[in-house]
Amino acid sequence: MAATIIDGKALAARIRARIAQDVTRLCSRGVTPGLAVVLVGDDPASQIYVRGKTRACAEVGVKTFDHRLGADTSEAALLDLVARLNDDANVDGILVQLPLPAGIDERKVLRLVDPQKDVDGFHPTNLGLLMVGEPRFVACTPFGVMKLLEEAGTELTGARAVVIGRSNIVGKPVASLLLAANATVTVCHSKTKNLAEEVARADVVVAAVGRPQAIKGAWIKEGATVIDVGTNRLDTGKLVGDVEFEAARARATAITPVPGGVGPMTIAMLLENTLLAATRRARLT
Ligand code: NAP
Repeated sequence: MAATIIDGKALAARIRARIAQDVTRLCSRGVTPGLAVVLVGDDPASQIYVRGKTRACAEVGVKTFDHRLGADTSEAALLDLVARLNDDANVDGILVQLPLPAGIDERKVLRLVDPQKDVDGFHPTNLGLLMVGEPRFVACTPFGVMKLLEEAGTELTGARAVVIGRSNIVGKPVASLLLAANATVTVCHSKTKNLAEEVARADVVVAAVGRPQAIKGAWIKEGATVIDVGTNRLDTGKLVGDVEFEAARARATAITPVPGGVGPMTIAMLLENTLLAATRRARLT
């Protein structure tokens, strides 16, 4: 039987509705959650992502502070902006849209973001806290992946989970979270031998590769849960994931679609983290 589709769009809409109520409550206590959104350059995909995030903030009542900088912005000017946002009491969260233009050291910029305002969860301190099991902010996409697994009712304790991809913003934090949820975790990457065999053993597959349909449906274990993080634009303009969807669906128990799976959850978790940061501020005021 074909797998259940895990509807990330619907789940994200429910989470956003709950966040909107929480934001209203917080505002009535005199704290309006604020997110600074920094976009450098004119990358079309980044512009679309930023527009989506800004719109989602407006819908739940999170105030955004937009900072659009030209592609010729110097690293020093960007660092200066981040430092000012760190000091701005109205800003609960700082989002620096990646990638940054060539010539700007991404790591230097992300490390300057105050870890208390790092709603993307990319700061090494926050990644470290996640690793030791004391998360402050969980990176939005990995956070969304875990919510989708919860939505699917997937039993993680004792499950064999395979994460394909080891980036600092997706693969590694997802692996940490799965481990914390008592799964037995294998992390695969471009040097992994016999990827097909690794995937075939997995009860849970999380694909974060960035290669269209690289994970073949025939590799998926019967009954597995598949979370497809990949977003790949084909020459035809079609958006596809990292997993061969139809063939994987025929073998899995539950699977996320692309689009409509992880993507909407990433934005919902950004709102969640911003709300969390503002709630912490409210406790201090
Ligand atoms: P990334 O930094 O490029 O990392 C890709 C990972 O995949 C690397 O660890 C790489 O291995 C591994 N890899 C590449 N080719 C492989 C192969 N043939 N076999 C096995 N592993 C391979 O990408 P990312 O930032 O983690 O993002 C991954 C995907 O998720 C992209 O499609 C991205 O667009 C998407 N994404 C979606 C969302 C969302 O909200 N939906 C958010 C973030 C990312 P090495 O380490 O050995 O190079």
